[in-house]
Amino acid sequence: VLKKARFIEEFPPKKLTEAIPSQLNELAAQFPQHLFSSDKAEIIAWNQDLAAELQADQKQIEALLLGTSPAKDSFAYNYSGHQFGNWAGQLGDGRALVIGELEDTQGCRQELQLKGGGLTPFSRRGDGFAVLRSSVREYLASEAMHQLGIPTTRALSLGLTGDPVLRDRFYDGNAAYETGAIICRTAPSLLRFGNFEHLAAQNDAEGLEKLLRYSIKTFFPHLEQEGQSTNGLVVAFVGEVLEKTAKLMAQWQSIGFTHGVMNTDNMSILGLTIDYGPYGFMEHFDISYTPNTTDLPGRRYSYGRQPQVAAWNLHRLASALLPLSDEESLLAVLKTYETEYNRAWSKILGEKFGLKPDHQQFSNLVESFFKLLADHRVDMNYAFRELSQAMRDQDPHHFLAALESYGSPSLDADAKTWLSSYKDALGEDSELGSRMCRSNPRFVLKNHVLHRVVEDLDKKDYSSLQEVEKIIRQPYNDWPDHGELYQPAPAWAQSRDIQMNSCSS
Ligand code: AMP
Ligand code: MG
Ligand code: MG
Repeated sequence: VLKKARFIEEFPPKKLTEAIPSQLNELAAQFPQHLFSSDKAEIIAWNQDLAAELQADQKQIEALLLGTSPAKDSFAYNYSGHQFGNWAGQLGDGRALVIGELEDTQGCRQELQLKGGGLTPFSRRGDGFAVLRSSVREYLASEAMHQLGIPTTRALSLGLTGDPVLRDRFYDGNAAYETGAIICRTAPSLLRFGNFEHLAAQNDAEGLEKLLRYSIKTFFPHLEQEGQSTNGLVVAFVGEVLEKTAKLMAQWQSIGFTHGVMNTDNMSILGLTIDYGPYGFMEHFDISYTPNTTDLPGRRYSYGRQPQVAAWNLHRLASALLPLSDEESLLAVLKTYETEYNRAWSKILGEKFGLKPDHQQFSNLVESFFKLLADHRVDMNYAFRELSQAMRDQDPHHFLAALESYGSPSLDADAKTWLSSYKDALGEDSELGSRMCRSNPRFVLKNHVLHRVVEDLDKKDYSSLQEVEKIIRQPYNDWPDHGELYQPAPAWAQSRDIQMNSCSS
């Protein structure tokens, strides 16, 4: 049974809409009206695994998704944020509505949010809609990340609204109609750093304290202690979010996941990956890699900068909480970020290389491996996985053979040198390769694979969507018959229109 979301029990929508211009309050009153023609809408993908975890009844959810049985208590979150380093003021869910919550098999309540269903009080100049190409990217990538063990929002379904959506084409600036789509996104909470920044910007210390206490009580009850001061709560809260965020960054870095738009309104207080826009899984290793055309030429959110950007964003969260705390306490907790990140990063690297981080040769081997990848533009996930399989199959040469596909004698020579030092550092351990294969996925969702899914969907062909849906569920399998999905991408797939996306979709 769909329950009323916990958030609006404490933060009734009216309060959230008070700050918006009066003509938009009328729209708020129309909630929850889907603005697409629901008689033409259809679900084209249903996440069976998640549905089972949520004990979701497809017919009931379908009716909600399609707007034939509107949820009574739906709402849009209001938040502000820093975008590309600048204060952007009020943003809010411009095209997403929480429709309620379901309790999963673990007893944990999950918010259900429709994204792309039409105007909300916070749509500003947008239309509240989403297009199929970006919705399928979110639907697949969030599940792919979940299956890789990376904290993330998930998606229960992907549907078509049945109505076309007008969008600017970035390559010629003309507008064109695209297929409108809607996903149902889930998470224990979709609260962002920006929700706190929003209240701080309005000098609403009372609201801030209420949101802080609500977040702790609902999501981090272990932080509550008797007789704790508000300052103590703030410090514990920032520390918890910081630790979760640092771990998340290490996980992103470990598979080359590049978010693309790490604005503070896209940072979850639960340390989840949230808002899949122009993200990309880095292929050839390059710290300046960005999948976001909107981030050129600055590359603020490029692969190599993500851990630092997260720290900057945590500073914004802490600043927002300053009215409830003091600078000294907050700076002290923020200072722990580097240690937390480094701890998480070396732990993951240890697993990826099958070496203990305190091994004498550890940093040398790690650094020279990344240098090898960067110097020769080698696909990072491919290299890690081939190395793992070589170790598992007790055939180190397999790693060298896999790199021969690059056709570069200098790469072959460097790889040979690296492999020999690596072998020298390893001890006797027959399980090493199998463990490495569980830490280095065979499959990450590459942009050219997504591109093909989208192209096929445009032709009403669902086969590649279904193939990818199956493979993302077991990213650590060998998948020997699906080489084209994980081998270094062919030349045609390197083009900018396949590798990059813009913020708008
Ligand atoms: P993002 O770059 O995806 O984080 O989006 C930034 C802000 O723009 C958020 O407030 C979104 O809700 C809003 N937004 C993005 N696309 C649309 C749209 N088509 N209609 C209304 N609001 C949108
Ligand atoms: Mg966003
Ligand atoms: Mg977005």
